[in-house]
Amino acid sequence: MAYDPSNVFAKILRGEIPCTKVYEDAETLAFMDIMPICDGHVLVVPKTPARNVLDATPAQLAACMQTVQRVSKAVMAAFDAGGVSIRQANEAAGGQEVFHLHFHVLPRHDGVKLKPHTGRIEKPDILAANAERIRKAL
Ligand code: AMP
Repeated sequence: MAYDPSNVFAKILRGEIPCTKVYEDAETLAFMDIMPICDGHVLVVPKTPARNVLDATPAQLAACMQTVQRVSKAVMAAFDAGGVSIRQANEAAGGQEVFHLHFHVLPRHDGVKLKPHTGRIEKPDILAANAERIRKAL
């Protein structure tokens, strides 16, 4: 499947719609998921086009994983988490909804389940406060 530049993360990368930024470097951007399934739910994307893992280059994957590792350590520290789940979906049948490669970084606590994906958009001030906590831990 071809990359479609009208996807929402491409719009964020072009600055056409806002995001709550956590971290960026030359190759990647990390920002808060707008419909978090736990506090501190971050998405990591490459700045260059890739639909998902299936068409990404080794360089894109390597850059993303370096940022995923960095953000994982930061969310664990920021939310006093005991662990972190890293999730990633490929194509609709694999659960993918936004067709620009992304990794979910989810701080986890013993015995605490992730929230269901209800489609509820989190309040911007809460996303901003959580992003600030993570940035301080980077
Ligand atoms: P996936 O199902 O792996 O494709 O996940 C897509 C994720 O993108 C979901 O967790 C959504 O909550 C999230 N999302 C959709 N639109 C935005 C947006 N504008 N800013 C941040 N996250 C978004």
